[in-house]
Amino acid sequence: MSNKISSVRGMNDLLPPESAKWHFFESRCRAVLARHGYAEIRTPVVESTALFARGIGEATDIVEKEMYTFLDRGDRSLTMRPEMTASCARAYVEHSLHMREPVTRWFYIAPMFRYERMQTGRYRQFWQVGAEAYGIAEPTIDAEQIAMLHALYLELGVPGLSVSVNSVGAGDDRPRYRQALVDYLSPHRAALCADCQRRLETNPLRILDCKVPTCKTIIAGAPSILDHLGAESRGHFEAVQAALAVLGVPFHVDPSAVRGLDYYTGTVFELVSSSSELGTQNVLAGGGRYDTLIERFGGPAIPAVGWALGIERAILTIPGDAATLAGGPVLYIAALGKAARLEAMRLAAAVRATGAWVEIEHREVGMKAQFKRADKLGARFTLAIGDDELGSGRGQIRDMRGGQQTELALADIATVIARLTAA
Ligand code: AMP
Repeated sequence: MSNKISSVRGMNDLLPPESAKWHFFESRCRAVLARHGYAEIRTPVVESTALFARGIGEATDIVEKEMYTFLDRGDRSLTMRPEMTASCARAYVEHSLHMREPVTRWFYIAPMFRYERMQTGRYRQFWQVGAEAYGIAEPTIDAEQIAMLHALYLELGVPGLSVSVNSVGAGDDRPRYRQALVDYLSPHRAALCADCQRRLETNPLRILDCKVPTCKTIIAGAPSILDHLGAESRGHFEAVQAALAVLGVPFHVDPSAVRGLDYYTGTVFELVSSSSELGTQNVLAGGGRYDTLIERFGGPAIPAVGWALGIERAILTIPGDAATLAGGPVLYIAALGKAARLEAMRLAAAVRATGAWVEIEHREVGMKAQFKRADKLGARFTLAIGDDELGSGRGQIRDMRGGQQTELALADIATVIARLTAA
């Protein structure tokens, strides 16, 4: 029997060079979010279970069956966060952000945990980038967030993007629609899948995005939420669409997009890609307005809107090769013998001080093997140090792209490399 221990099912290691693609994506996210005035928040991985039960909703898939919940040694029920909107809202209330500033914009890049059935693009530990804006009730911020999300993926060259928008209504729109939906679905009860029969009691809106074919047929004839919006919700939703049109974001209205979390009020949206890498898990990101969540956590009535995107899915859709993104060293110094290696270390330190990636060979291997390694690593320049170079204090830098040699005094190596890379 093997005594190896593997990682937990659905939780993956991220190894180089693949991690370069993540860095690339995360840095693009950070840049786009910074341009829009979002600053980073970090919260604990673990929160009180009550936070998610109250925030996301008891009758949601996440809270009912997907949370990693445990008792700590003091018998407190804790949960590894399945999403971060609830944590952010808790932090907003806990630190009285509304007293500090009228508008707060946060972003996060963090791992989430959900005990889900695994498939490509669906894991039990997965990473999200998210944006949250508090204090703005106006519909233009909804549109700006959607546009920001769309622009991010468009710039990255992700194929087949489409944005769907919907409104789940605010105030008493939801209960009114819920009733209309229950009235329509109840006569079809027996034909619904077992999950949807249960949802009919607990959370009928969730039936709208059931993927079981028989349910889908029934849903096709269901009343639309959009016909049940009050004047305020309708006006807000129309203004979101008008702003998206001004910004040139292509979108379509999808009345069946309700999202799986209870805290949404008004606008909800999803960004989908038709990339073949994604299979059925083609939703890149989702979000919406949650104007009552801060109050639900004991804060004042502060409107808010946010989205979250899944990094694993983003990585699957981004064109380009991880190894190319990872790049190679600027300089590889090959050395023969102990004295030469020490000199190589000294030179490497001088060039690294300028910010460049320099590799040297620490192992006792021959010149041929060292050059092979320089090639494998994709080094831009190489320098060989042996007795001659040690004696004369001079050497030859070789450009691995064109093969040209540049002679130099070893003492000048940092400035020579800077000049060559700038050229
Ligand atoms: P949600 O928090 O469910 O609205 O999800 C927002 C985004 O997070 C989705 O569009 C996915 O890109 C990503 N996501 C959600 N659940 C998972 C999961 N189990 N594995 C990977 N990505 C996920």
